[in-house]
Amino acid sequence: MATVLLVEDDATIRTALMRGLRDRGHAVSSAPTAMDGLRQALAERPDLIVLDLGLPDLDGTEMLRMLRAVSRVPVIVATARDGDAEMVRLLDAGADDYVVKPFSAAQLDARVRAVLRRGAESRTDSSVSVGELRLDPRSREARLGGALLDLTPREFDLLHYLAARRGEVVTKRELLTEVWQVPYGGADKTVDVHLSWLRRKLGETAQEPRYLQTVRGVGVKLVDPS
Ligand code: CA
Repeated sequence: MATVLLVEDDATIRTALMRGLRDRGHAVSSAPTAMDGLRQALAERPDLIVLDLGLPDLDGTEMLRMLRAVSRVPVIVATARDGDAEMVRLLDAGADDYVVKPFSAAQLDARVRAVLRRGAESRTDSSVSVGELRLDPRSREARLGGALLDLTPREFDLLHYLAARRGEVVTKRELLTEVWQVPYGGADKTVDVHLSWLRRKLGETAQEPRYLQTVRGVGVKLVDPS
């Protein structure tokens, strides 16, 4: 069971899908416009969003881009258009999967479960190794070259978030959203301070980084230093 936000302007489709997903055990809320969808996505922090591309106020792809600037919540896009080019465009814009209209609630439920399973495997539950660094979210243990690191819960989450995205530049904005769960505002300084504590525990400095590489003006990335 998951909490799902359904962004769909067609009341008939919305009602049918909400009922179908609820019957399958999900907690579903809905929004009829892109702007409502964005607001609710940030306020409710659902496990997953089902996004209709044909919305009255904003193009769904546009909403997806805006959402992706502040959140990594899995998104399944509902489109009337089929084809490889369309699929590539949507995945590039940050969709995790898509369904082509018309589709049934059963079909959507199968996609919802598949996307959440994939997310859980790749992001949360699985241990991550980068170089000599090893993080196990189940035991919440972080080791560097076999030695246990003494991390606070937040430091662990931060390090795991970056390690799960090794080589990827992650913005401070995204870290505030995903690790601190602060959708708006919040100070970049918070991230900087935690990064410097993490660096110390990893035995490195901003001047001589190993795992934690700052990308000036963009964010930070975790790399294998060897
Ligand atoms: Ca529509």
